[in-house]
Amino acid sequence: MKNGTCPKCGSNEIISEAPLRGSDSIPPYISILEPEPPNRPFVWMPKGEQSQFTAYVCGACGYTEFYAIRYQALNEGRKKGFKAR
Ligand SMILES: [Zn+2]
Repeated sequence: MKNGTCPKCGSNEIISEAPLRGSDSIPPYISILEPEPPNRPFVWMPKGEQSQFTAYVCGACGYTEFYAIRYQALNEGRKKGFKAR
């Protein structure tokens, strides 16, 4: 899809890098968070990473792919053990 061709129908009529719009003025996003430590300090705020998405839409058949914008930050969080919730 990012190469400009639809993997479903082969069309090159692709709408690229479209930001997602959502309800309640907050676009859809995912969040991953640091797990709670075994000896939880009295004051503890989990570290985390979040990302919204951008979309690639095929104008010929409607097939759509979503890509996380902050995928590198999400992956760094994953390496630290952050979990989706
Ligand atoms: Zn298509």
